[in-house]
Amino acid sequence: MKTINIAIDGPAGAGKSTIAKMVSAKLGYIYVDTGALYRTAALYITENNIPDENIEKALESADISLKFIDGAQRVFLGGRDVSELIRTPEISMAASRTSAVPAVRAYLFETQKKIARENNVIMDGRDIGTVVLPDAEVKIFLTASAEERANRRYKELAEKPDCPPYEDILKDIIQRDYQDMHRETAPLRQADDAVLVDTTNLDLEQSAEEIVKIITKRIAGEG
Ligand code: C5P
Repeated sequence: MKTINIAIDGPAGAGKSTIAKMVSAKLGYIYVDTGALYRTAALYITENNIPDENIEKALESADISLKFIDGAQRVFLGGRDVSELIRTPEISMAASRTSAVPAVRAYLFETQKKIARENNVIMDGRDIGTVVLPDAEVKIFLTASAEERANRRYKELAEKPDCPPYEDILKDIIQRDYQDMHRETAPLRQADDAVLVDTTNLDLEQSAEEIVKIITKRIAGEG
């Protein structure tokens, strides 16, 4: 049976993963966070000090996979659950850099396609609507101003003892946006048939509601 695929793309910190999780819970779809795959590839490359020219060969033995445990995604590197380990600012930056290497994108492409072939998914990333699932039933481009995204990340990190200053977070976001939008292979951009949702002035609940509305309308053939 043909599965239903929803693509959500957008820059770092737009709230994609939180909102996509809320939407998939409402619709009963599997939520796939493709950034976790890129982060895991980055972890593998950094842990093993692999120079760019050897990445393609090295990835052949990387063994990166996703599992869905009680509906929640976990990511594994060679059998090791690295779901938490990949959430550091260092890995964020490393992932943004190594995701520009075509061999990394080619390696993760089939993993993403297979999940979408076999499940109704809401898949979030940077190139889902443009490259990975160009035939997705619904495409959303989720964004917010860089300042608002930095503000949200700052609030998230504020509880932690080693919270970086707001200015550093903003600088990282701007740098990651630039890298993601200007790389040669599969740069971050809004697909021509994607619906733009700007969450600068929306809270999470309002953003999720807006997206559920877009999806249900589209799938019912009204929008
Ligand atoms: O979404 P997240 O911030 O976890 O992604 C980490 C990095 O992985 C991004 O900055 C981006 O460079 C890369 N990425 C990508 N394509 C995707 C998902 C993530 O290039 N589909």
